[in-house]
Amino acid sequence: MALSVPQPILDALTDVVMPRLNPEPKAAQHMQIGGFDVPVYPCGALVIGSGAAGLRTAVEMKRRGMDVTLISQSAWGGTSACSGSDKQTLHTANTKDQGDDFQDMARALRAGGAMDEDTAYIEAVGSIRAMASLQYLGLPLPQDDLGGTLRYQTDHDEVGRATSCGPRTSRLMVKVLAQEAMQLNIPLYNHTTAVKVLLEQGRVAGVLAMRHKETSESNPYGLALYPCHALVFAAGGPGELYRDSVFPNGCFGTLGLALETGLALTNITESQFGIGTRREGFPWNLSGTYVQVIPHIYSVDDQGKEHHFLAEYYRSTQEMASNVFRKGYQWPFHASRMLDFQSSLVDLAIFREGQKHRRVFMDFNRNPLPIPGDAPFSLDRLDDDVSQYLKTAGADHNLPIDRLRHMNPLAIELYKRYKVDITAEPLEFAVNNQHMNGGIAVDIWGRTNIAGIYAVGEASGTHGVTRPGGSALNAGQVFGTRVAEHIAAEGRAAQAPTGDLNKCATAAVTALQTVLNPESDLTPKDIRDDIQARMSDHAGILCTPANVAKARAEAATLSAAIREKGIAFSRNSETARVVQWQQMALASEAVLTALDHYIAQGGGSRGARAICDPNGESLPESVNGPLPEVGFRAERSEDMHSQLIVQFDGEKMTVTSRPNRPFDEAAKSFFERDWPAWLTGGIYDLPQKETPSC
Ligand SMILES: Cc1cc2nc3c(=O)[nH]c(=O)nc-3n(C[C@H](O)[C@H](O)[C@H](O)COP(=O)(O)OP(=O)(O)OC[C@H]3O[C@@H](n4cnc5c(N)ncnc54)[C@H](O)[C@@H]3O)c2cc1C
Repeated sequence: MALSVPQPILDALTDVVMPRLNPEPKAAQHMQIGGFDVPVYPCGALVIGSGAAGLRTAVEMKRRGMDVTLISQSAWGGTSACSGSDKQTLHTANTKDQGDDFQDMARALRAGGAMDEDTAYIEAVGSIRAMASLQYLGLPLPQDDLGGTLRYQTDHDEVGRATSCGPRTSRLMVKVLAQEAMQLNIPLYNHTTAVKVLLEQGRVAGVLAMRHKETSESNPYGLALYPCHALVFAAGGPGELYRDSVFPNGCFGTLGLALETGLALTNITESQFGIGTRREGFPWNLSGTYVQVIPHIYSVDDQGKEHHFLAEYYRSTQEMASNVFRKGYQWPFHASRMLDFQSSLVDLAIFREGQKHRRVFMDFNRNPLPIPGDAPFSLDRLDDDVSQYLKTAGADHNLPIDRLRHMNPLAIELYKRYKVDITAEPLEFAVNNQHMNGGIAVDIWGRTNIAGIYAVGEASGTHGVTRPGGSALNAGQVFGTRVAEHIAAEGRAAQAPTGDLNKCATAAVTALQTVLNPESDLTPKDIRDDIQARMSDHAGILCTPANVAKARAEAATLSAAIREKGIAFSRNSETARVVQWQQMALASEAVLTALDHYIAQGGGSRGARAICDPNGESLPESVNGPLPEVGFRAERSEDMHSQLIVQFDGEKMTVTSRPNRPFDEAAKSFFERDWPAWLTGGIYDLPQKETPSC
């Protein structure tokens, strides 16, 4: 089945124009805080971040009568609006032609371990509503003529629960949610970066932000105060942690801010890594059809010499080509798939070429070269699953580029938009960091360990070690809705607070001034290079106990130096970035502390990291024999049942562990028994006096 779709339709799927922002409401008042003249924007609930998760939370809150405001570093920045792959997906429990089973889906979501079982069920059962409400808002999910949603199989998904509106699915989600937010007149303050959270008596009281447009002589850092009763962290993942990253530029997330606030983080050892083009060019995952058309993959050294390096790993042309194909739906690196000549041997080989300072390319105008001594590549010599797929797709063309043009012309269009013509030139790519599975620890309502603070989307740590492709977007939609329900049930956020925040705001300003030190010898660029190199070199897909321990010590030294000296800046417009790099240093230290703790306790390879150990029981092999330098520890089953929690006390990190929350699959709801808890708000688990009365 050829995809013969007229060009204007393809264009509309790749160039998604975002709505115009409404004018920003003016400050309610100005306050003198620590000698600065600071505008104040009180609101009932504040959402940090305007990605798919933050917008969903804000819209759902507004519809429930809450006084909600959004602030965003960049309104159409972040992962949802700017990244993507050809399988941005939303899980829906509606497959196998006859519908799905929520228990099955929950089991699939938590199959990698270290995931709360109740969370998995919540995401499964909530996926129907997440998808249907997005369709109601205008998200063009593909349907058949009888109204069934078209779906397909993606990574960690055995039954085909994924669906997609093309390469820009998540941007389209942002678009429809933002249109709704604009229609509901939700104030959105753009170019506004949250830098400090204010607490009073153990509860959230507001946020201090930096807005360049507020900069004046009496407010040189552009400070702005947002007093609020409820706060939602929806600031996405920490893409800037890694040098080799497929996150869009400027994704800092808020893990460091969360740590400084006293929030507990969970599962931050768990990330995804996979092949893609780096953010320095056009960041995009090379999953799906890009590899299913089986391009030639090769590297080039600094003398310009080409290397057919996959031939040093696989035993036959058929084995190599079939595993390149399988990267399409087994996209993230997984340690155990390095064994038995499976598909993660491709990632390993590419990563090791990078270590040799060679550049790696995909050429769509060449079929894979043969393994020396073996027969040449042929579509007639592929493993059964691969040849069956290509036959069903009608992709019998001679060259990969023609197979791609046939199966997914959008894949070519997309790169063309960014001035890369893959029909004419090979595409440079690498193994990149793509997703943070962990984040701020939350309960079943998205509540954190601090009263009034919630977290959703990639900022929160709701995934376990692995997650099926598409479940990140679904989790943000499901928990965004639940957080809004909870905040509305609690009720305080219907009005803005009126209390005096001078004392805690002054303390926050003083803390910021210790970070912003024009005299410091630490620059944001040096800190960035230091953190990103350490994370990519020592906390990527291959980790060793000694390197991680050393990296952890270096990260702690950097954080301590920043506490002592602050960070230099040359212009006031840089101050928000400076604070973000200070917080990124903390985030990096936290990830390495948790990883070091996990490895020191005997933790094995799981998710996207192989814990290399000469005594490890797993030994990948290549055509030339075993690869002892990447022998790795196997995963320990006991680690699947708990999560590592990291907290920061102002000087050092502590790591503890807690068991996954269970879910009783046998428990059934019973209408007459359970209805009162819904009617009285009992389901929200609010303190007694706050339970709303009907
Ligand atoms: C290449 C790639 C492909 C992916 N493919 C898929 C897929 O197919 N399916 C899937 O489910 N997931 C996929 N993901 C993951 C998924 O896209 C993200 O997890 C999701 O979009 C995150 O949404 P979010 O709303 O939590 O954060 P984001 O969309 O990143 O939004 C964060 C927002 O917070 C703002 N912000 C950040 N810091 C601050 C601050 N301090 N103050 C104020 N604002 C701030 C940003 O400007 C932005 O508006 C992919 C990710 C990448 C990188």
